[in-house]
Amino acid sequence: MALVNEHFLKLQSNYLFSDIAKKVNSFKVTHPKQKIIRMGIGDVTQPLAPAVIEAMHKAVDEMASRETFHGYGPEQGYPFLIDTIIKNDYESIGVSLEPSEVFISDGAKSDCGNIGDLLRHDNSIGVTDPVYPVYIDSNVMAGRTGTWENGTWSDVVYIPCTAENKFIPELPSRRVDIIYLCYPNNPTGTTLTKEELKKWVNYALANDAIIMYDSAYEAYIQDPNIPHSIYEIKGAKKVAIEFRSFSKTAGFTGVRCGYTVVPKEVSATTLKGERVFLNKLWLRRQCTKFNGTSYITQRGAEAVYSPEGKEQVRQTINYYMNNARLMKEGLEACGLQVYGGENAPYLWVKTPDGLSSWKFFEKLLYEVYIVSTPGVGFGPSGEGYLRLTAFGDHKDTLEAIQRIQHWMR
Ligand SMILES: *Cc1c(COP(=O)(O)O)cnc(C)c1O
Repeated sequence: MALVNEHFLKLQSNYLFSDIAKKVNSFKVTHPKQKIIRMGIGDVTQPLAPAVIEAMHKAVDEMASRETFHGYGPEQGYPFLIDTIIKNDYESIGVSLEPSEVFISDGAKSDCGNIGDLLRHDNSIGVTDPVYPVYIDSNVMAGRTGTWENGTWSDVVYIPCTAENKFIPELPSRRVDIIYLCYPNNPTGTTLTKEELKKWVNYALANDAIIMYDSAYEAYIQDPNIPHSIYEIKGAKKVAIEFRSFSKTAGFTGVRCGYTVVPKEVSATTLKGERVFLNKLWLRRQCTKFNGTSYITQRGAEAVYSPEGKEQVRQTINYYMNNARLMKEGLEACGLQVYGGENAPYLWVKTPDGLSSWKFFEKLLYEVYIVSTPGVGFGPSGEGYLRLTAFGDHKDTLEAIQRIQHWMR
């Protein structure tokens, strides 16, 4: 008899996006003529940069002849891409990495989810709240979260990030072994300064903890004082693993490419107290369970760093960030409290008059035909907020702002 991993049975169904879809569909039935504007999308909408398309076409052609065909590549990724990443994303900010510390993958979601394979089931975990659900659910599957009680997991330390603490997480009151941080943050769109991030690195160093640092939105940072990598903080190479993705940076959500940095110095211990370095274990894990990202995709990712690629990608990010700026200004002019949107494509809006997330969601849908995402769907501290995204079409974004301004006046 095969026994199932019963931890899967504990997973709370994430009904958030299907609940939203249901509500939007019933609205459509009763209001068939209204034009809905979607500001809930967590996916990019602009096409891939021409430089990326050109590189991928060329790579496809290479696959067509025996001399230039590529079969299995190195599990860790092609050196041409790893070297380009180190030079452009790290050397440029004064961080030096060895090629063996960078692992190319099919995206940050898989890596954030899979990294837990390296750590025992009984580590304690801490997450900022609201949160990207992958960090919690992957730990549920591994049996690390305890039981589900009153809307939270008994063994997860939730670190609230709300307007009251300016979205700056406080160090946990209970010791945690593994900490998930995501900056710029999804869903709140907020960031941490070097000083604030340093507090976390120092906590991890003092407590022998590991930080899983998701910087999928790094490319959206505009403020020169916001750190782009956790390795800009002294000591971080001992305690932090960093996840990056080409998805939001360069529109690779449907192409699939990301990378993870596991510095040589990051370690965890055995029960007996012997130090084990995680870089070797991650290499072993990837070589066993992953056969590399496609050659064509990696050539496309390399082109993100060519002079033309950089310029084209920058333009697309500016397009989204211009939406974000107009949204923020427009909503603030209506008297709404708006957070994020300055270094991230997300705006985190406080619901007016103490409305619940879902109530404000419904008002926006039924009164101005705008689809948003209720903040409570990202965790208990998200109650009383909504997430709006800047990934939409520019004209639609302008129209949405006008509708809200008209409505609130
Ligand atoms: C979109 C996103 C990712 C990227 O996921 P991919 O698998 O690389 O597409 C990672 N983390 C967060 C918080 C995200 O929002």
